[in-house]
Amino acid sequence: MTQTYDVALIGAGMAGASLAAELAPQARVLLAEAEAMPGYHATGRSAAFWEECYGGPAVVPLTLASGRYLRDHGLLSPRGALYIARARDEGEIDAFMARFAASGVQIDKVGRSALEQRLPGVRPEWTMAIAEPACADIDVAGLHQHYLARARSRGAELRTSARLEAVEREGAGWRLSFGRAGEARARVLVDAAGAWADEIAALAGARPLTVTPYRRTVSQLRVDPAPAADLPLVLDIAGGFYFKPEHGKLWLSPHDETPSAPCDAAPEELDVAIAIDRFEQVVDWRVAAVERKWAGLRSFAPDRLPIYGFDPAREGFFWFAGQGGFGIQTAPAAARLAAQLLLGLPKDAMTEQLDAALYAPARFG
Ligand SMILES: Cc1cc2nc3c(=O)[nH]c(=O)nc-3n(C[C@H](O)[C@H](O)[C@H](O)COP(=O)(O)OP(=O)(O)OC[C@H]3O[C@@H](n4cnc5c(N)ncnc54)[C@H](O)[C@@H]3O)c2cc1C
Repeated sequence: MTQTYDVALIGAGMAGASLAAELAPQARVLLAEAEAMPGYHATGRSAAFWEECYGGPAVVPLTLASGRYLRDHGLLSPRGALYIARARDEGEIDAFMARFAASGVQIDKVGRSALEQRLPGVRPEWTMAIAEPACADIDVAGLHQHYLARARSRGAELRTSARLEAVEREGAGWRLSFGRAGEARARVLVDAAGAWADEIAALAGARPLTVTPYRRTVSQLRVDPAPAADLPLVLDIAGGFYFKPEHGKLWLSPHDETPSAPCDAAPEELDVAIAIDRFEQVVDWRVAAVERKWAGLRSFAPDRLPIYGFDPAREGFFWFAGQGGFGIQTAPAAARLAAQLLLGLPKDAMTEQLDAALYAPARFG
């Protein structure tokens, strides 16, 4: 017999899992995931930081609003961040400071001696930085498991190896076909499919919003000297790299953004080599080995803001997509806000500062 749900969410990465947990106390929820393991795509491949400025000023409120929940659940550990710059990048430092001046984040301009202290071995051409002390590491797997467990304990059904293959309108809801994983009916269909968000929209007869996946590469390096455990997250103010320590090793990214079709993303040797070349221009440490490398897809709407809300033209179709490079650090507030929008509930202490119109699909006309 075909089961009937209030809400069917497509995709059990961070987006789908967090929203399922928020909806489950008030709705019969199906969380459907194409892969055998939830978290196999972007969610399982992140660099695991909570960085207040990441994503720009319009994402800051989502990140800040999520901070307390993450801290209360023991999922953040202090790291600190430094946006580093050469003399020629001074304009970028000032522009960055001005851009975030009214955003509520704590950022401070620091000079060469503070930089040397936080990043021993930094080459002489790096002359200044912006320090962001509140930056933290996130326990991504812990957060994802927290939401999956919470969703299940509140009655949501997780169906894995269940790829949505066909959708049709049936009465006031949807009839969903997952191939060999069966069928389901639901009143609301939530698109939490990450890089596949536009494909799900097209399947459901909604207008795709040009959610574009971009590949991002990370490699794990053995470096000499080994990075101190309290090394901050170090980012290039000009956007050419970031790196941070991870259990005595270094995670390094060239900050690449290569457009891609939705897929099981794999790292390119060239991107790893570019990252190492840029890294060697920052510090005098020796790269002893590339131990591991991976890539994932970060999916953005054209204005690079996330999309939360009902589609204005396709009844019963709810967008929860375009989480870009900030889908982990914004997950608690994003999921709470989306649940409120979907269920017609008022805002609460976590979401009261958020402007839902910024993220509404209706902004695309
Ligand atoms: C290298 C890298 C570093 C990052 N670093 C950070 C960071 O430090 N901090 C941060 O906050 N964010 C970071 N991000 C971004 C973050 O990982 C994403 O924003 C987040 O994981 C997106 O979650 P999601 O659930 O939308 O997507 P996904 O995790 O990709 O989940 C979407 C799911 O939908 C499923 N799906 C697709 N089609 C179907 C279908 N037809 N039927 C059923 N299921 C389907 C897929 O199998 C997939 O599991 C990083 C991303 C990358 C790639």
